[in-house]
Amino acid sequence: MKTYRQYIDGGFRDSHSKDLIEVVNPFTEKVVATAANGDAQDAADALEAAQAAQAAWAAKPVIERAGYLKKMADVIRANRVELARTLVEEQAKISALAQVEIDVTAEYFDYYAGWARKYEGEIIESDRAGENILLFRQPIGVIVGICPWNFPFFVMARKVAPSLLTGSTIVLKPSSETPNTTFEFAKLVDTIGLPKGVLNFVSGRGSTLGDALVKSPITGMVTLTGSVEAGEQIIRATAPNITKTSLELGGKAPAIVCADADMDLAVKAVVGSRVIFSGQVCNCAERCYVEASVADEFMAKLGRAMAEVTFGDPFADPNPAMSSQISKEQLEKIEGMVQRAKAAGAEVLVGGERPDMPTGFFYKPTVLGKCTQDMEIMRKEIFGPVLPVMPFSDLDEAIALANDCEYGLTSSIFTRDINKVMRASNELKFGETYVNREHFEAMQGFHAGWRKSGIGGADGKHGLYEYLQTHVVYIQH
Ligand code: NAD
Repeated sequence: MKTYRQYIDGGFRDSHSKDLIEVVNPFTEKVVATAANGDAQDAADALEAAQAAQAAWAAKPVIERAGYLKKMADVIRANRVELARTLVEEQAKISALAQVEIDVTAEYFDYYAGWARKYEGEIIESDRAGENILLFRQPIGVIVGICPWNFPFFVMARKVAPSLLTGSTIVLKPSSETPNTTFEFAKLVDTIGLPKGVLNFVSGRGSTLGDALVKSPITGMVTLTGSVEAGEQIIRATAPNITKTSLELGGKAPAIVCADADMDLAVKAVVGSRVIFSGQVCNCAERCYVEASVADEFMAKLGRAMAEVTFGDPFADPNPAMSSQISKEQLEKIEGMVQRAKAAGAEVLVGGERPDMPTGFFYKPTVLGKCTQDMEIMRKEIFGPVLPVMPFSDLDEAIALANDCEYGLTSSIFTRDINKVMRASNELKFGETYVNREHFEAMQGFHAGWRKSGIGGADGKHGLYEYLQTHVVYIQH
């Protein structure tokens, strides 16, 4: 069994706490590794190393910094199969999807390396004669990156790549449930000659290590991907230092299916978006609204498709469509939400219970009918393979129901009518809308939630600018 140590200032070391976290394979329920349960002293060590390394790192030409990102992409590709195996073991993601996550992460490092020669400052016209106004885009300093368990490898790159490219250094904390792939990556980073202190990885709990990282006056920006609850705690913890935060939080994505939609395509996309990684994806379709005139046809097709979703061993060949939930706690949360929905009048059309499996935290792919907007299942993030559905009478109502939500991450609409597409594009109040396709974003887009789904965002040009602060200089000559 592997034991992962902190990676601070270019070397591996034990945590001051000496305490360990056990990492459980959710499918086998067996402990597969231990990692440091880091404390405030580990946080201070990592932040001081990042701070000491930052000025020299920022002084390097950006193209040199980008060279290190390309090396990261290279070592990931050279170890792609082993990394995917580690990812499957620590979180029961089916191996095909784990492989996609590893490969896209390598591409992500290459993508941001490509921004080296592209991002720019500005020269602004002055009101005065003989004056130039220059707007520089400069690094923030030391970034703290905090990752969730659902895409631990990709989200790590989402924070590391723009930080390092723009001349900041970073301390990154993976989720205590899934530190393994991140620390396997730390071993690879250790071989590429990156200056020490530029990239530090520390493991531990959010309430202890995470809290110490975000509260420190050394921290220039906190970038969290996680739950709304963690986002709230981090806003409070960063308030005394007015530290910049970039928060990518939970969602409750609506999928709107209009009567004129290609029904088969809608069913395939909605089901795919609901069961990918066992329903544990922030932008997954979490609730569905279907036009009343086609509700019976849609529900019949949806029910058949969800009943056919396969689940099992994430390594099985061929892969099942999904596997175990991440933990017993998540499984119990899903179960509780379905029970409360039933008590409130929802009808289980498919699933609605745990399957009989020898090991693992499995929940059956589930469709709930007779749902109403006031039910918890239509309002709170489920993060499991459960789709509540309710009918709507016209597009006005569908858009109003979709927008009636405390989250605002992603949304989708299925229709062949360009006027409906344009209305949805203008009126849905979400960071992303997918039209006639599954819920999944691109690295050159901008993944940013409205309302409680977050502040700021990631990816593409706008995601890069999150990591840069402006400095305007007035030069009279
Ligand atoms: P979580 O909030 O429990 O934990 C996320 C990370 O925050 C972990 O590393 C945790 O240790 C840390 N943390 C928790 N409290 C903290 C605190 N007070 N101070 C500092 N760090 C703290 O989330 P999770 O269960 O790992 O992930 C699932 C959630 O993440 C879901 O709500 C999902 O929608 C969301 N998510 C959002 C996106 C997005 O891009 N918007 C992507 C993936 C996941």
